[in-house]
Amino acid sequence: MRIGIMGGTFDPIHIGHMLAAEAAYDAFQLDRVWFMPSHIPPHKQGAGATGEERLQMVREAVHGNAAFEVIDVEIRRGGVSYTFETIRELQELHPGIQFYFIIGADMVNYLPHWEHIEELAQRLVFIGVRRPGYELALHELPAFLHDRVVLAEMPVVDISSTDIRERIAAGHSVRYMVPDQVFEYITRGSMYEI
Ligand code: ATP
Ligand code: MG
Repeated sequence: MRIGIMGGTFDPIHIGHMLAAEAAYDAFQLDRVWFMPSHIPPHKQGAGATGEERLQMVREAVHGNAAFEVIDVEIRRGGVSYTFETIRELQELHPGIQFYFIIGADMVNYLPHWEHIEELAQRLVFIGVRRPGYELALHELPAFLHDRVVLAEMPVVDISSTDIRERIAAGHSVRYMVPDQVFEYITRGSMYEI
């Protein structure tokens, strides 16, 4: 079994996330992609959606795609979500699975600063995707990461959750920037004050 994990805050989930997951799924013959919203500690939460709301938006987004699932391990664990801790747990629970972790170019460049990155890089392979505004400088990564980061090509999408929250706050449309079911969920709810 080859499982891709698409981690993020997903506040809200948008089509950049969906296309990144699909590109990785397609390019590396993954069996499934697990979308995994991280927990946001209360003191960092700010004006965004709650963990339950972010989880529900991700559920709405993957609905109808049998290859895409949602896991709530980080939100259930609470506190600061460290990927190394999560992957240790997941590998203990599922010893036969090869995990891949899907990340945008901003995160690829930041990998050297991740907690316990050397251990994590032994446990899984990172699948990087392009993102406007961030150079993918793989050769600048430390040597131990060189054969642990592979790329998947996706249509580059210039959308971030921050843009979406700002557009909503300014009274602009975000329709088609997020999956339809997510747009409907956002419109029905009040987490971004539409
Ligand atoms: P925020 O603006 O709140 O940081 P975001 O759009 O960056 O939101 P995150 O939840 O922070 O979304 O990102 C989760 C993962 O998805 C990260 O690995 C990030 O690099 C990747 N990602 C987010 N947006 C895109 C995009 N438009 N194209 C490719 N990857 C993306
Ligand atoms: Mg981000």
